[in-house]
Amino acid sequence: MVFTHVLVGLLVAVVAGGGAPSGPLLLAGAVGGLLPDLDMVAAHRRTLHFPVGYPAAAALAGLAWAATAAPAALLAAVLLAAAAVHSLMDPFGAGLELRPWNRDSQRAVYNHALGRWHRPRRVVYDGSPGDAALCVGLAAAAAALGGPAVRPTAVALAGFGVSYALVRRRLADLIPEEFQSLSPFLKHLLARGWRAIRGRTGKHEL
Ligand SMILES: [Zn+2]
Repeated sequence: MVFTHVLVGLLVAVVAGGGAPSGPLLLAGAVGGLLPDLDMVAAHRRTLHFPVGYPAAAALAGLAWAATAAPAALLAAVLLAAAAVHSLMDPFGAGLELRPWNRDSQRAVYNHALGRWHRPRRVVYDGSPGDAALCVGLAAAAAALGGPAVRPTAVALAGFGVSYALVRRRLADLIPEEFQSLSPFLKHLLARGWRAIRGRTGKHEL
């Protein structure tokens, strides 16, 4: 749902910018929407997912902006709000599994405040037709509210989201069955790449 999350971030920026968001504000929203999933190479849906921490931090940044009108505080508030919505959306999707149609995982997102995982509600899962429809709807809303500055990015993200949904099952087929979720597969690829680089460096040293 990476395209969906980035579109939600754009929409947060559009709303916070009163329908006329600046470039940095849009970037903050997009980065905030993407940020939690960078933990794909760590403990996915745990290391950078904070369903309580991000909303609290976003509220504090919003208060700081209201008190000071500092542009940096608004950027921080938008980034944190987008990351908050991402972390709160994930429990409505599938679990950690790579093939969500198998319903293998009961872990949707880790709640650090409660010290436990939220289970997946499976309303819309990654790359499903519902996810594609959500992408298109969010892109339409962002484009309608944000105007020409947002439209090309929103349309491109919707295009990527729909294309991704069309090949989602085939992408999962390319990954060996032994990998139950994407995160360990990515870590496996990174480790293999690192070993190859070290091997090559070692040969140069000889
Ligand atoms: Zn996520």
